[in-house]
Amino acid sequence: MIDNENINYVTGTIYSYSFLCMRKVWLSYHNLSFETENELVQIGKFIDENTYSNQKHNFMIDGKVNIDFLKNNVVHEIKKSDKEKQMAINQIKYYLFILKQYGFDNIKGELNIPSKRYKEEVILEEGDDKNILEHLELINKIIKSNDIPETINIRACKKCAYYEFCYI
Ligand code: SF4
Repeated sequence: MIDNENINYVTGTIYSYSFLCMRKVWLSYHNLSFETENELVQIGKFIDENTYSNQKHNFMIDGKVNIDFLKNNVVHEIKKSDKEKQMAINQIKYYLFILKQYGFDNIKGELNIPSKRYKEEVILEEGDDKNILEHLELINKIIKSNDIPETINIRACKKCAYYEFCYI
């Protein structure tokens, strides 16, 4: 169990954003959300709502971290394409890390990309706990600051829900 009371858990989605853009982390954490207007996010939500819909088992941890799909001791994360594969793996590892903090250490993860008929098992490996904790500390530093991180101006910005907010 993390014994640092100053650490705030963030949602898995925000955790995964941190591997792309800390500005997005800050904006999402502070609820500056334009996600409902973004077509790509809508497609993601459609897939999420319509794939495996009869198998969904939501799991809320400590009122803070919501796992969409936990079944038979496997955390599933469903993505629309393999572009976000590493981010999704990081997100699943984060869920496994949080579950471990609460004593659930026999749980595995699985990344599912239905459009590619792809699945991959994800487990916590040596060093992951330390890396995740350090990353969580970094995220905490960002979200507790009053300063919004700078724009990063990368290709992915054009597909980001915050594009208009950041650049127009
Ligand atoms: S548009 Fe780019 S800079 Fe702005 S939040 Fe998204 S990824 Fe970050």
